[in-house]
Amino acid sequence: MDVLVSLCKRRGFVFQSSEIYGGTGSCWDYGPLGVELKNNIKRLWWRDFVQRRPDVVGIDASILMHPNVWRASGHVENFTDPMVDCRECKHRFRADHVDAMPWVHYCAATKGNKFTVKPGEPCGHCGERRSLCPQCGKGTLTAPRQFNLMFKTFMGPVEEDAAVTYLRPETAQAMFVNFDNVLQSMRLKLPFGIAQQGRSFRNEITPGNFIFRTREFEQMELEYFVNPRDTVDGRPADEHWHDRWIEDCLAWYKRYGLRAENLQLREHEKDELAHYAKRTVDIEYRFPIGWSELMGIANRTDYDLKQHAKVSGKSLTYFDEERKDHVVPFVVEPAAGVDRSLLAFLSDAYQEEEVRGEKRVVLRLHPELAPVKVAILPLLKKRDEIVRACHAIRDELARSWSVAYDDTAAIGRLYRRQDEVGTPYCVTVDVQTVGDAGEQGDDRVTIRDRDSMEQVRVPRAELVPVFRELLEGGAWKDVAARFTPAAAKDSA
Ligand SMILES: [Zn+2]
Ligand SMILES: [Zn+2]
Repeated sequence: MDVLVSLCKRRGFVFQSSEIYGGTGSCWDYGPLGVELKNNIKRLWWRDFVQRRPDVVGIDASILMHPNVWRASGHVENFTDPMVDCRECKHRFRADHVDAMPWVHYCAATKGNKFTVKPGEPCGHCGERRSLCPQCGKGTLTAPRQFNLMFKTFMGPVEEDAAVTYLRPETAQAMFVNFDNVLQSMRLKLPFGIAQQGRSFRNEITPGNFIFRTREFEQMELEYFVNPRDTVDGRPADEHWHDRWIEDCLAWYKRYGLRAENLQLREHEKDELAHYAKRTVDIEYRFPIGWSELMGIANRTDYDLKQHAKVSGKSLTYFDEERKDHVVPFVVEPAAGVDRSLLAFLSDAYQEEEVRGEKRVVLRLHPELAPVKVAILPLLKKRDEIVRACHAIRDELARSWSVAYDDTAAIGRLYRRQDEVGTPYCVTVDVQTVGDAGEQGDDRVTIRDRDSMEQVRVPRAELVPVFRELLEGGAWKDVAARFTPAAAKDSA
């Protein structure tokens, strides 16, 4: 994980938020390359799950919603963690985590010497078990109190109870609240989905592990509504669609590069299921911190629509033409985190290898995810014609893709820099391209492939169609076969 964190900072993917002031608790800022990667993840998700599907539409709702939304959803009452406080150092702990922490102990049997004792174990000198604060070893702990994880704020100019509202802790509720608006305006037929991407906020007590768990994060959620009276292949429609969504989401992560051996499904046990959920399955990823949840796919039944109908007094039903009756749809919810997905894609893509005796760090990101698609590099930055040609190529390719120009090092070094941020292709312009000593140039440039490090010379006029082919899924070997291999300059 440290390697990734350091790469992210050094190369402009992720910075600590407000770093010059010492940072903000577990908030992170995406830098120039990070924002590109993050936007690519969101764009691909939207394209594959909203635009390309005939049965899904999108919305973009407010972060601030009516406070009753969170009463109806159960967040005001139940979105809590039991917390204890130290009366001495004021540190706050999750009550269920205290016993699993190493604890500081001033041991009476050894003249009050300070020890750190392993979690759950007694002191080796006096045999005592932890009773005081594990952090400072001095204060007593309060009884557990419920602490709500929603960020509270005030709507309007007065800070009074009537004006309390919350930063949304999830995007999902907006789809339930807008169910009827979307249904009526788009004239939809079940089954259909409503999708949204956006920020959510949770005042986590123990955030951490880089961008894995943060207090402000971005979600990609979809609520897929089905008619619970329908059957598909002899099974209840909600169960059929739940399985379909698990398959589709898993396939999506694999398509953009996560390796099958780093992905697994985890079925929630009965006692871990939310009371309204019929079944929940997590897609887990083998993060650098171990197997952890990448996304969850829950069958939430008709709980949410019924709750909002009850609290708002508005009917949230669907008219079943076939049965001439109103029905409350069931909902299957695939919910993914953008930041977590980004961390998974980065860690899966990160590789160190040895090339001609030197370490090469390469991010083997899927071309559609890569923050920069093509880097344009001059072989000699002192030759005006070369630099001019590079800028002209840059401008032309920048109409379609995110590209970079770099002339601040020797070519070997420039290639390594692009490898390290996952740029799939580089274009080099050299003397042969532009001509030398009165001789006409051949107007060909060198394209280098990140993964194989092979190079071919391609007529400049063909760059756009060639990159269109490569960046839309074409294989390097097919393209390379059509052009002349170039002498490798990679060892420079
Ligand atoms: Zn303490
Ligand atoms: Zn002791």
